[in-house]
Amino acid sequence: MTATATTGATPQPARPDGPSLVWLRDDLRLGDNPALTAAVERGRPVALVYILDEVSPGIRPLGGAAHWWLHQSLASLAADAAARGARLVLRRGAAEPLIGALAEELGAGAVFWNRRYGAAERDVDTAIKANLTDAGIVAHSFAGSLLFEPWTIRTGGGTPYTVFTPFWRACTAGPPPRAPYPAPEELDDAARGLGSDDLTGWALEPTRPDWAGGLREAWSPGEASAHESLATFLDEALPPYGTERDLPAQQATSRMSPHLRWGEISPHQIWHATDVARRGLTGAAATSATRFLTEIGWREFAYHVLFHAPDLATANLRAGFDAFPWPPLDAEALTAWQQGRTGFRLVDAGMRELWRTGSMHNRIRMVTASFLIKNLLIDWRQGEQWFWDTLVDADPASNPFNWQWVAGSGADAAPYFRVFNPELQATKFDPNNEYVRQNVPEWGTDTYPAPIVDLGETRRAALAAYDQVKAARPDPA
Ligand SMILES: Cc1cc2nc3c(=O)[nH]c(=O)nc-3n(C[C@H](O)[C@H](O)[C@H](O)COP(=O)(O)OP(=O)(O)OC[C@H]3O[C@@H](n4cnc5c(N)ncnc54)[C@H](O)[C@@H]3O)c2cc1C
Repeated sequence: MTATATTGATPQPARPDGPSLVWLRDDLRLGDNPALTAAVERGRPVALVYILDEVSPGIRPLGGAAHWWLHQSLASLAADAAARGARLVLRRGAAEPLIGALAEELGAGAVFWNRRYGAAERDVDTAIKANLTDAGIVAHSFAGSLLFEPWTIRTGGGTPYTVFTPFWRACTAGPPPRAPYPAPEELDDAARGLGSDDLTGWALEPTRPDWAGGLREAWSPGEASAHESLATFLDEALPPYGTERDLPAQQATSRMSPHLRWGEISPHQIWHATDVARRGLTGAAATSATRFLTEIGWREFAYHVLFHAPDLATANLRAGFDAFPWPPLDAEALTAWQQGRTGFRLVDAGMRELWRTGSMHNRIRMVTASFLIKNLLIDWRQGEQWFWDTLVDADPASNPFNWQWVAGSGADAAPYFRVFNPELQATKFDPNNEYVRQNVPEWGTDTYPAPIVDLGETRRAALAAYDQVKAARPDPA
């Protein structure tokens, strides 16, 4: 296992026999957790700590659905840790002083964590590593959340990739990702004397009103559940994945995204389990397995793009798009989109699925995003923020990356002039209106709203606006 170099000169460890502190973040699991494995291998008692930090400079506070998931995931992790003899310590606030204080309280000899890739998160981690190192405490970070570290995948010219296909070819040209580490069977707990917040006291779950009923029905957060879902998917849905993954009425995709977002399962575990499943498949079914792994590759790509473009959620990746003449915000149209009352059945079905379950099928995410940007002419950042607040898989890389992909302002993006027609998309991908009926029961009756815009007119307006981008900068694409 390789650790990153600590900052500055390496002083002698102050407490070589002190316990190890494992700082858990977007890796809420015990299996294939390199930081935890390193702590156990160090041979000293281990303290498991989670800090809810939404206050350090630049850290983006989580949305409502993410808070709900986080509560369930932490409860599940605490139970899994307890079954192995350890307590999960919870603290809330700025991570830098909290980790320092915890390490001191514990008399820690080492602090281990798995890396994060956003700029603000990296700044926090760098400062903490420097503080710990200065105090003579070993501080090591590990690769636990991505298959390929962003600085290891470069074009021949040494620059980051901006197009997915060569990026993924470069990733897969080398040796396969390392095998997953097993979860420790038991833990020698160092955290007994440490105070911990009460999870319920964090009030991450909604109460008045409790809007999470649909989320509870749709999802079962936690490490064990992530593995059960993956096994079911690989057994039953992997072979037809290639042909059915675009049909929202089918349960044809893996539903791994929130489990991956919170690190309840690692991409390495998914990679290797899929690889094993692939060996038993031939023809189209084997192609499905490759296709599924390619989707995992899109997640990698989004993170690599975020690593190199820290402002991904706020700034156009292609600066030419700054000239896009967004009209003044039409708040009524935005609300109709958010509430699934646009009068376009597939858009409304998607937005209501999102509100009810905290998720939305990928094809419909593309359709609803395209509708917001290109038919309502509303800035992609408004949509990204709504998804950030309502998705259980709201991801700092995948969410802004995909919004920019649909807008045409991002990496390897869909060209702006390619405007999804939501009615044609409905006919093609939900031909029997099954998905629409599941989510919009009043569709086809008098109570269903009339269309709020004319698709042809708004498409033309969007293309005219795009011409202004082209005029401002001849080749934005
Ligand atoms: C506007 C928009 C916003 C999105 N926001 C998010 C987000 O916040 N979080 C998120 O995880 N995904 C996001 N996606 C990507 C994608 O829609 C979801 O990952 C997918 O729907 C999750 O379902 P699944 O796990 O069943 O996918 P599967 O088809 O089973 O794919 C397997 C895994 O591959 C990854 N993946 C698949 N497609 C993509 C993609 N386009 N970009 C990045 N990773 C991908 C996910 O980790 C997913 O779990 C967004 C897509 C769009 C168009």
